[in-house]
Amino acid sequence: MKNLFDLVIVGAGPAGLMTAKTAAEMGLKVVIIEKKRDINKIRRACCAQFVMDNGYENESLQIQDNKVIFTRNNFSIPYTGRLKKVVNNYHYSPNGHRIHFAHSDGRPFAFKFDKEQLLQDLWEDCERLGVELRLETLAYGGKDTGNSVKLDLKSKGKTSTIEAKKLVIAEGANAKLTDTFGLNNGRGLFGTPFVLIYTIGNTYGFEPGSWNQYYGRAYHPYGEIIVAPSLEENDTIELTIIGNKQLLPETFYEGITKNSPLRENFANSQIVDKQGCSLRSYAPLKKPYLGNVITIGDSAAHVEVIVQGALMCGYHAARAIKDELQGKNGFEEYTVWWNDAFDFNRGEFNDFISLYGSLTMMPKYTDDELDYLFSLLVGKVLNGNFSQFEVPKKVWNSILEYKGQIETERPLLFEKIKKIDNLKL
Ligand SMILES: Cc1cc2nc3c(=O)[nH]c(=O)nc-3n(C[C@H](O)[C@H](O)[C@H](O)COP(=O)(O)OP(=O)(O)OC[C@H]3O[C@@H](n4cnc5c(N)ncnc54)[C@H](O)[C@@H]3O)c2cc1C
Repeated sequence: MKNLFDLVIVGAGPAGLMTAKTAAEMGLKVVIIEKKRDINKIRRACCAQFVMDNGYENESLQIQDNKVIFTRNNFSIPYTGRLKKVVNNYHYSPNGHRIHFAHSDGRPFAFKFDKEQLLQDLWEDCERLGVELRLETLAYGGKDTGNSVKLDLKSKGKTSTIEAKKLVIAEGANAKLTDTFGLNNGRGLFGTPFVLIYTIGNTYGFEPGSWNQYYGRAYHPYGEIIVAPSLEENDTIELTIIGNKQLLPETFYEGITKNSPLRENFANSQIVDKQGCSLRSYAPLKKPYLGNVITIGDSAAHVEVIVQGALMCGYHAARAIKDELQGKNGFEEYTVWWNDAFDFNRGEFNDFISLYGSLTMMPKYTDDELDYLFSLLVGKVLNGNFSQFEVPKKVWNSILEYKGQIETERPLLFEKIKKIDNLKL
């Protein structure tokens, strides 16, 4: 067929654009379908930080000369946007006892970046390489015919069909098309949290370039809240609040900014922007492909691969497609890489979930208990990392170095930790 594309990609986020760029560099004929009007306008909540931990997602990033370099996966992407270092990582109890993570050599844990610019830079490479882009177009259905994939599209009230030899679904966390193509069969769904990130100007007292997590009912009834840097002036921060369909995150905004221990920090502040999302928290796909279709990035994951993981997925998926088109088993090779690269894929997923659950301190401990536990570590600097899986593990391991003291001073709390968290006491 003359007009058959080698590859159609659904989604122009980091995973989809990286697939397109890599596939086009290898000479494939590629089209991207994106429902948004502008690729580089982001309305979906994202803290947009590169995690710089050595070995995180089996990678060690370097950022230099307008490039983000993936030193282990052996590729780089252009990035011409702003960056802000994140050097200190603090965890606060309701009374302000603080657990402090930092690298002893002052190296940043993370870099805040401009996600809109990152997508723009990737798209400029795609455009130069001849990738076709259909904006304001929703992919809503389709089928794998065996020889090719037919994808149903809707744009400005009109429907059409596009055909390609292979389909990469890079649609993000809600995984709807992934479901349509049969890839969600038997996949567990754990819940649908709602998240809001407020960008707030004219705040007071937050350390510039620091990442801060606040624990306790003094702030939120069941989850941590996060204060992270923005790319703007130092007094403009990003406040992340979690909620759900019944109790939307905005329900908690007033309490945090007017009545919590942070009220002074927000006394004269103004909301500059607000971005939200709902996240369907699925179990990750052990086998993310079926026939001519592969699903990558957040759509195949447990909640998030984060941007650097999405870029890696795109890079490997494009190479897998090229191999498949040459009769090799590219999808299987991708799957081996996928299952090894991400924490949530390693070992048994149920072990991961129970470990992750046991590490979260909210809402299991009272504010008084959190104050006591955090006070044990005041004045120490823990040499930790930024990974959302590793940090809670390190918080607990550091607290449990004082288990003798906890048992003597707070026997009931000691029993509670043993019972609830079954941690190695
Ligand atoms: C609160 C929060 C904080 C975060 N913080 C960070 C962070 O600090 N650092 C970090 O790196 N990551 C962070 N992330 C995660 C990051 O946003 C995602 O992991 C990443 O964007 C996933 O990329 P993706 O390409 O797989 O999907 P997405 O970025 O979601 O892109 C999917 C694209 O597909 C399009 N699309 C979807 N369905 C269709 C359809 N049917 N037809 C056409 N187009 C479609 C969407 O419009 C979108 O453009 C955060 C996320 C949240 C929610």
